[in-house]
Amino acid sequence: MRRPVMAGNWKMFKTQAEARAYFSALVPLVQGSTHCDVIVAPPFTALAAAVEAVRGTAISIAAQNMHWEVEGAFTGEVSSGMLVEAGCRAVIIAHSERRQFFGETDETANKRVKAALAAGLTPILCVGELLAEREGGKTEEVLERQFQGGVAALTGAEFSRIILAYEPVWAIGTGRTATPEIAAEAHRFLRRQAAASFTPERAAGLRILYGGSVKPDNIKGLMAQVEIDGALVGGASLKAEAFASIVNF
Ligand code: PEP
Repeated sequence: MRRPVMAGNWKMFKTQAEARAYFSALVPLVQGSTHCDVIVAPPFTALAAAVEAVRGTAISIAAQNMHWEVEGAFTGEVSSGMLVEAGCRAVIIAHSERRQFFGETDETANKRVKAALAAGLTPILCVGELLAEREGGKTEEVLERQFQGGVAALTGAEFSRIILAYEPVWAIGTGRTATPEIAAEAHRFLRRQAAASFTPERAAGLRILYGGSVKPDNIKGLMAQVEIDGALVGGASLKAEAFASIVNF
């Protein structure tokens, strides 16, 4: 039985003060929500405030990216050790916006995944096809390439510590959600990839989140699919009440 995960990705939204206000609203709404893991990913500058605000609760704080080197002359970058020290437990890796706007490749995603695992963080590795790729019948080819590239050279034990997020790019921030059936089909494909590359047992334990315009009114249908183990939520995670109703679907 896989434990569901509801993760919120704030992207480049919210100051420290806004983060504190958000958690004072969210914490009471999800404190009885023991059926799933709750993760929130604020921007770097609000991480410490978020960690402080969730102290003593079951909510985990994640970063939205990290560099793979431990330290060095990499202006503008943040390392895994810095995230751990700030109190992060997880990190989103290779979000489609990183792939689209900041040159993320499967190779750099893999370096980040390995570095996150080495530091004791849970990587949330994102994969997903563009609209043109779906329409061109290339969805499985793209998912296979991104999955295999992202998890390359992981040991079975390392693989068991990652979370995968299937985020079709055409559904992110567009209001156009994949139907539960479309999402589940992609999840089944990814799980088959995991079984072939690792073992059926490890594949069965892999938590695969769906992301792409998840809202309080569509989460129930998505979660009705046994293949969908939770959600990675962008826009709707910015309001504590909306994110809480997704958590408490
Ligand atoms: C995301 O940013 O990962 C995402 C899925 O965004 P949205 O929910 O706004 O589509």
